[in-house]
Amino acid sequence: MSGCEGGSCSTCSSGGDDPDRLPPGMLKCYDLNQSTADGALVLVETVRDGDSVRLTDVSAEMLGMADRVCEGRLFAVVFGGLEIKPLYPEIFGYGTDTLYHVRDRRLETYMPEAYAECICDIIERVNPATVLFGATPTGREIAPRVASAIGAGLTADCTGIRTDGRRMTVTRPAFGGTIMADIDCVGFPQMATIRPGTFPLPEKKEGQGTAIYWQYPGDTVKDVMSDEPSDDEEDDIRDARILISLGDGIRSRSSVDVAESVARKMGGMVSCSRTLVEKGWLPRSRQVGISGRTVSPDLYIAFGISGTAQHRAGMMGAKRIIAVNKDQDAPIHTIADLSLLADAEEVLKALDRSL
Ligand SMILES: Cc1cc2nc3c(=O)[nH]c(=O)nc-3n(C[C@H](O)[C@H](O)[C@H](O)COP(=O)(O)OP(=O)(O)OC[C@H]3O[C@@H](n4cnc5c(N)ncnc54)[C@H](O)[C@@H]3O)c2cc1C
Repeated sequence: MSGCEGGSCSTCSSGGDDPDRLPPGMLKCYDLNQSTADGALVLVETVRDGDSVRLTDVSAEMLGMADRVCEGRLFAVVFGGLEIKPLYPEIFGYGTDTLYHVRDRRLETYMPEAYAECICDIIERVNPATVLFGATPTGREIAPRVASAIGAGLTADCTGIRTDGRRMTVTRPAFGGTIMADIDCVGFPQMATIRPGTFPLPEKKEGQGTAIYWQYPGDTVKDVMSDEPSDDEEDDIRDARILISLGDGIRSRSSVDVAESVARKMGGMVSCSRTLVEKGWLPRSRQVGISGRTVSPDLYIAFGISGTAQHRAGMMGAKRIIAVNKDQDAPIHTIADLSLLADAEEVLKALDRSL
């Protein structure tokens, strides 16, 4: 089994080392030979983009990273119909040797239980040393189900991975993000969910490999009453290349409108620290940080943000950071490429005017 050293980490679920101690049902139907576990398996997620579908960035990031640091073969699992086929060359281009394409009309609508069952069956077949999911709503829903069914440990929401090729050490924020914990996986398969934006997007290129159509063997299928997206869906700050990010140094609510205007003119989006979400000035979907979203834009301009560990955990992947903060001792200056010791609202207004 895999799990954290010590076996009782509160940040992940651990199956422990002794099969006799596992809850009833676990491992009964899955026969995993841990001594031969090798390679990595990645759940590839797709999103609709107009008339076609594309890979989510985190899927490409995980494939690129696994190809770099995991020895052995790289397997991928993807769910969907014929519309997935044009994505094969890209998936293989990121280093995938074998792609399991679960094509089953009964699974056209997302069903976590059935998806997890398929992944368990594929894990049993390929016996990977490492299994990775994006820390996305889908990955977070499926990964614990898979871990529980095969009796493996799962480290959630990881922001870093080191391997010796086979053994994996993952990094994740702990104690409210005040420390980064390194967690050694002590058995196989080693499972983790990876925060989007943690690894660089690999260069897109086309490749070849083996694609296997996989049928769902079970019958855990439910009737879906409606799959209409909810009305409150909006653009995602994780996709923005420029973020105008606001913190508690912003004292007037009208400055949020000025920031929206600046972001629009620069082709970016407005994000924020938790403080502004707590004030009710911006929705939680705009929050950057350990309990918000992880972003990796080309440019992150922090207006009146102090740069606490909880906030930094979500924006360390930014390529360029500009800090606008009156306090020269604010921690954000230590990670900024450019610091302006100035009034955040004044700079925002001036920027809006000049743009
Ligand atoms: C479990 C847990 C999870 C958390 N998760 C998150 C998270 O995901 N994201 C997050 O952001 N926080 C999170 N927090 C909260 C975090 O600890 C901080 O409270 C928060 O990040 C502070 O936000 P801030 O930088 O906007 O405010 P502050 O820390 O109060 O900083 C405000 C900054 O503005 C500067 N300032 C003031 N006036 C001006 C001015 N006129 N012009 C320019 N600068 C000015 C000040 O110098 C200061 O540096 C979490 C906390 C906990 C305990």
